[in-house]
Amino acid sequence: MLYIDPEECIDCYACQADCPVDAIFFEDDVPEQWQSFIQLNAEMVTQTPAITEKKTPLK
Ligand code: SF4
Repeated sequence: MLYIDPEECIDCYACQADCPVDAIFFEDDVPEQWQSFIQLNAEMVTQTPAITEKKTPLK
């Protein structure tokens, strides 16, 4: 699982089409059943290393 830093994201939506499980939403559009992931994402982004170079895509 990858996390998006809500302080760094500029809401350009360029990444949305590349998510293989359609898990990227603007914060206001997160479906009700996934609302808890907003806080989880914000917490986990502070605990995981940033990806700073191109990597082999996840499957
Ligand atoms: S590509 Fe995705 S994570 Fe990066 S700024 Fe745009 S919307 Fe945010």
